[in-house]
Amino acid sequence: MRSLRDFCLRHHISALWDVAMAPYTTFRIGGNVSALLLPCNEEELTQALRFLSQNGYRFRVIGNASNLLFDDSGYRGVLISTRHMRSLSWDADGVRASAGAPLNDVIRRAAEKNLGGFGKLYGIPATVGGAIFMNAGAFGLSVSDFVSFVNVWDTKEEKMRILSAEECLFSYRSSIFSVKREWIILSASLRLERVPCREGMVILRETLQKRQEKQPLFYPSAGSVFRRPEGYYVGELVEKAGLLGKKEGGACVSSKHGGFIVNLGGASSSDVLTLIALIKQEIKNRFSVDLELEIEYMM
Ligand SMILES: Cc1cc2nc3c(=O)[nH]c(=O)nc-3n(C[C@H](O)[C@H](O)[C@H](O)COP(=O)(O)OP(=O)(O)OC[C@H]3O[C@@H](n4cnc5c(N)ncnc54)[C@H](O)[C@@H]3O)c2cc1C
Repeated sequence: MRSLRDFCLRHHISALWDVAMAPYTTFRIGGNVSALLLPCNEEELTQALRFLSQNGYRFRVIGNASNLLFDDSGYRGVLISTRHMRSLSWDADGVRASAGAPLNDVIRRAAEKNLGGFGKLYGIPATVGGAIFMNAGAFGLSVSDFVSFVNVWDTKEEKMRILSAEECLFSYRSSIFSVKREWIILSASLRLERVPCREGMVILRETLQKRQEKQPLFYPSAGSVFRRPEGYYVGELVEKAGLLGKKEGGACVSSKHGGFIVNLGGASSSDVLTLIALIKQEIKNRFSVDLELEIEYMM
């Protein structure tokens, strides 16, 4: 790790060493990582990616870690969080947002500028990069509906790429970036509609209200644990299987939304994994449905 420390010092890139991941995740779960790099802009991120690839480090880029379950033993490698890369530049039709910009900030600030169309995504605790990677969505809309270009750093070929929305191969909670792991999202241009501020703000308020009614937002979680299986709602299946409120250690199947596992306090990754295994087994036995994870397990 010594040379990574030297690199960060030389390039003034903020880093935390041997740090617990739990506070950096929405689940509040996860052990230590040897290095968490926090670049402030796209140039610092690119420099760090170049250094890590050239020196053979195992690494991952994360956003707000709102879709991740880190193991209690932490992550074996270097993590780069984009959370300090928040720059936004606006024009009449939309915005160019750095990968770490919180999607909620983009949506709220767009509404203030009479821009919108994506207000129903308000409340998803994603960065722009994480939202594009996952093709995050809600209430019938997905991030892919608004992407015009994504700027990417190709860590294998060490060059920039500009991908059109078509080239991102978006589908339900998926994009080319889950296949091309070596392509790191630096920023994206989002194309927005003209929406009067007052109208836009009403949509944001209504959307937040719906989320508060449906989701267990009081407790830490990583959102929906499973992908929606064709023709079913996970929450309904879990409820019919009598698993609402089922506890394991500090983890619990939310009684408000059966698709969520929440951390009641002090949950470990193995508590969550135990509940996941139980839910999968029960749903398979009772309904012959194979549930697939939407959250990603990191170790
Ligand atoms: C309370 C709650 C509600 C939620 N509601 C929704 C919802 O309504 N709809 C929905 O779709 N999701 C929802 N989620 C899940 C989550 O917010 C989304 O999956 C989101 O897109 C993840 O973004 P992130 O920035 O946190 O990414 P992370 O969780 O940090 O990372 C997710 C993946 O993206 C990769 N990644 C992140 N940034 C980059 C980058 N710059 N370049 C390349 N790869 C990158 C990571 O390596 C990882 O594989 C919810 C989560 C919570 C906690």
